[in-house]
Amino acid sequence: MKNFTKYDYLIVGSGLFGATFAYCATQAGKRCLVIDRRPQLGGNVYCEDVEGIHVHKYGAHIFHTNDKQVWDFVNSLVPFNRYTNSPVANYKGKLYNLPFNMNTFYQMWGVITPEQAQAKIDEQKAEAVAKLGGMEPQNLEEQALTLVGKDIYEKLIKGYTEKQWGRSCTELPAFIIRRLPVRLVYDNNYFNDAYQGIPVGGYNVLIEKLLEGSDCVTGVDYFIAKVGDVLPNVVNEKLLKQAWHDIADKMVFTGKIDQFYDYRFGQLQYRTVRFEQETLDMPNYQGNAVINYTEREVPFTRIIEHKHFESFGQAVYDNPKTVISREYSTEWTPGMEPFYPVNDDKNAALYKQYKSLADQQTDVLFGGRLAEYAYYDMAPVIAKVMQLTID
Ligand code: UDP
Repeated sequence: MKNFTKYDYLIVGSGLFGATFAYCATQAGKRCLVIDRRPQLGGNVYCEDVEGIHVHKYGAHIFHTNDKQVWDFVNSLVPFNRYTNSPVANYKGKLYNLPFNMNTFYQMWGVITPEQAQAKIDEQKAEAVAKLGGMEPQNLEEQALTLVGKDIYEKLIKGYTEKQWGRSCTELPAFIIRRLPVRLVYDNNYFNDAYQGIPVGGYNVLIEKLLEGSDCVTGVDYFIAKVGDVLPNVVNEKLLKQAWHDIADKMVFTGKIDQFYDYRFGQLQYRTVRFEQETLDMPNYQGNAVINYTEREVPFTRIIEHKHFESFGQAVYDNPKTVISREYSTEWTPGMEPFYPVNDDKNAALYKQYKSLADQQTDVLFGGRLAEYAYYDMAPVIAKVMQLTID
């Protein structure tokens, strides 16, 4: 191959892992080529402008972290606003605040003081605690019942979780529900973290900053593209997948790890979300960015009203329109977007097999939700890249 300059890194996927890696590598004086199979950059944090509203095309993203270094890093690229996630749950037409806090306990049981709430929770969880007899909760149902008891489990957790994961709560790992705080204070902030917000101007601004100085090509699928699709000035009909060593010294791969290894041990399972997006001729549809529908019978899990991520108070009414997305969670099949890894024993064991191949591969770094088959939030992805030594 001739007529092109070799890159230090070929980065497959321009989501947060790939884009942050590109930024850090560029800062370290490396040359990066970033490719993405979608028509735009940014992976799942990409936002589409609809009627002047930044629509989170691949699901709601709320940045939150306790890590000051990560917070300072992202804020050095783009300022973040003061958005605080405080979703509301709708169960059979009745509203409850999330996460589980004094407001929820008041709405659920009419209890007013933390002492009353604690007594009610203790009563509600007694049966499940006795059943465990000192053992650790083995699944999500046991964990939820011993954390908040029967009423909250049945009204606010069971239906929502089974819709989201398409599996019974007894088959899901306990840690998923430990993501949610339980508090004996009147505090509807969904996260415990010290820092939280949305980039001013939307996530695309953050991605643009992260990718400054890298060469980026969109609409290129690593598995089927040819070298010429990425480097049009190069005459080479080889599949990129086979020629990447000619293009770059090393590769960062952020796609599906099972696909990378041609599914040789079998396919990992994922959950995906179908978004039913609507633009409405009203300024304010639900009064909150996130409303969860926790009963089994409502087919969608939640409705996102995107403008509330970036407009507050009276500013909501500056735009006479609003955009909402209903989220339907389904099992992933090829051709769909894989969103969530399925955290059960079968998939964990399968991932371990792929991981042992990846560990032996010193010229490829695997990172992010898909390549590490992990239920990552955004900040830990950035933290992970910041800790890497890039040489
Ligand atoms: N969850 C629930 N009821 C809710 C919201 C969340 O039971 O109203 C559970 C559900 O099992 C979910 C988990 O909490 O998988 C984590 O929720 P989170 O909002 O963190 O999920 P994400 O935003 O990543 O989709």
